[in-house]
Amino acid sequence: MAVERTLSIIKPDAVANNFIGEIYSRFEANDLRIVAAKMALLNKTQAEAFYAVHKERPFYSMLIEFMISGPVMITVLEGEDAIAKYRTLMGATMPEFAAPGTIRYDLAREGKANENAVHGSDAPETAAEEIKFFFKPEEICYRTR
Ligand code: ATP
Ligand code: MG
Repeated sequence: MAVERTLSIIKPDAVANNFIGEIYSRFEANDLRIVAAKMALLNKTQAEAFYAVHKERPFYSMLIEFMISGPVMITVLEGEDAIAKYRTLMGATMPEFAAPGTIRYDLAREGKANENAVHGSDAPETAAEEIKFFFKPEEICYRTR
């Protein structure tokens, strides 16, 4: 296993529900270090570009409206096997199918069907692209201790 970086977005539902701290606690409890973070209210152009891969999907416009409905917390995580590890912590895309103990089961199951609390990169290539989408290299903090 290697040290990887991955992009997390705490989505508008979880920010509105005051779950930022709860989700950050799970990162830290699982040896994922925060190396960059910012809060942002995405505009439509940004949300559409970020999720461009889903442009042709029937849920695309619903997804975009959701992602711009309130501020999000965007975080770069670093750690051993960070990409897969964070996907495991997140749980299945649809909260009702996520396993108990995952972020989506614990923190999104009571919400609207398409509102699933978090985003996480799904592969090394997408992680690198997504991190670059939101952060300049100098905004990522090398952990010196
Ligand atoms: P994310 O990319 O946000 O981490 P994911 O990788 O688990 O989630 P994707 O298939 O990439 O899932 O879908 C991106 C997002 O689009 C999902 O997180 C969810 O918010 C929304 N979405 C996916 N499938 C559906 C669907 N069938 N109906 C409504 N929304 C959906
Ligand atoms: Mg995805």
